[in-house]
Amino acid sequence: MPTDNPQQTTGFSDPLDQAVSVAARSPILLRLDGAGVLDPAGVALAPGSLVVELSPTGSTPTYAIRVLACDRPGAIDKASTFAGAIRVSLADSVLIPGLVNTHTHLDLSGVGPRPFDPSRPFADWLSMVVRERPRTDPEIEAAVNLGVDLLRRGGVVAVGDIAGALGPSPTATPWKTLAASSMRGVSFVESFGMGPGRATAAASVRTLLEANPEGRSADAPVRLGLSPHAPVSVDRRAFAELAALAREYRLPLCTHLSESPDERLLIERGEGPVRAFLESMRLWDEQGPDGVGEGRTPIGHMAELLGAGPTIAVHVNDASDRDIEILAETGTPVIYCPRASSYFRFDRSLGPHRYREMRRAGVRVAIGTDSIINLPASCVQAGGSGLSTLDDLRLLYQRGDFGGSAAALADLLSMATIEGAGLLGLDASGFTLSAGSSPLGIVAVPVGANRTGESALERVFSGDFPPRLLLNGK
Ligand SMILES: [Zn+2]
Repeated sequence: MPTDNPQQTTGFSDPLDQAVSVAARSPILLRLDGAGVLDPAGVALAPGSLVVELSPTGSTPTYAIRVLACDRPGAIDKASTFAGAIRVSLADSVLIPGLVNTHTHLDLSGVGPRPFDPSRPFADWLSMVVRERPRTDPEIEAAVNLGVDLLRRGGVVAVGDIAGALGPSPTATPWKTLAASSMRGVSFVESFGMGPGRATAAASVRTLLEANPEGRSADAPVRLGLSPHAPVSVDRRAFAELAALAREYRLPLCTHLSESPDERLLIERGEGPVRAFLESMRLWDEQGPDGVGEGRTPIGHMAELLGAGPTIAVHVNDASDRDIEILAETGTPVIYCPRASSYFRFDRSLGPHRYREMRRAGVRVAIGTDSIINLPASCVQAGGSGLSTLDDLRLLYQRGDFGGSAAALADLLSMATIEGAGLLGLDASGFTLSAGSSPLGIVAVPVGANRTGESALERVFSGDFPPRLLLNGK
């Protein structure tokens, strides 16, 4: 890393390493001079500087971050109180807060990115995932730890992770692994509940919750949540029991909803490849799942359950005008996974995602990546950005969904920071860089040289450099 103050480097690889090392023992002041600072709460400076205090926590992470000043470099120069700060020049990078990835599947990280062939039956792709996913606790732990590395590579400090269910019993291993890492967020325990499994889904999750009281605490850095998988794999009667369990323990609840044309075909008409799959697995009993085949859209099918308590809806690639009204009326937030949606060609088969109309209707929208399987192979290669939601924001910007004004860029960034934090029950102040805030992380996004007349802030989203997580505190 370049530094304009080399005399302060004392045998460490760069002044940032030095600062972090000292901050584990005593408070220090650090000044970061960037090509810009962009904050979801509205700070937009180019160039911009941050002065932060790092102070020891006596635990892991070893230091806490507090922003003392966020301003133009000239204004910081005039403040004599910051004269002794260790200076780090980041002249080629814009500083943003640590990111949130609101929806991913860390236990699939070991499978890695895979191509998707839309001419093949979806069941082929699904059986590849089932075949290659980890099965034992040590394998799951290794995959989640790999996923945490991929999140950090992408500048992510908080996550909504789906703790996948293999058999009838859910596992706490993904939660335990995540809780031992530097990540914040929610580990959503996944359930399936069609056919014979319908009656026991809630009871097995209750057993897991009872065995892990620390994960139920509202103060836990990583909390447990519940995730009935989707309307195609969880009968409404089982979903109602799982949702009641989430309410009883005051835990967040999410479900995949309205993701694909096949889901719509099953819920609306009780037909199609999902029905064939359920029948082949002996998960379709004589009457069929509750309410399926009665002409409703997946969101219409779930409307009463969405109204019964807060539920996060993941994907919602398929949404009618009435569906958007139901989401708004029931206060159901949406997690949009832009690259996953493109990977499965849902933006073609179902039309463009209607997340902007949802937001205008008052629906909160945050961004997720979904699993590494549906991301480009470059994500895991050297210099790749891992499980970063920044690359999903870049997709939205580069296709013209957002303009280049400071307000538009801050609004775009909000979906992978404060909006995601809100959905996961985290304090939004951990995801801003305004003076007085205590961000969980600070990320430098290299923006390269200005060749196109774009501002440094626009180049955060028009470029493709991987972000770097500079600081990750408590
Ligand atoms: Zn998912």
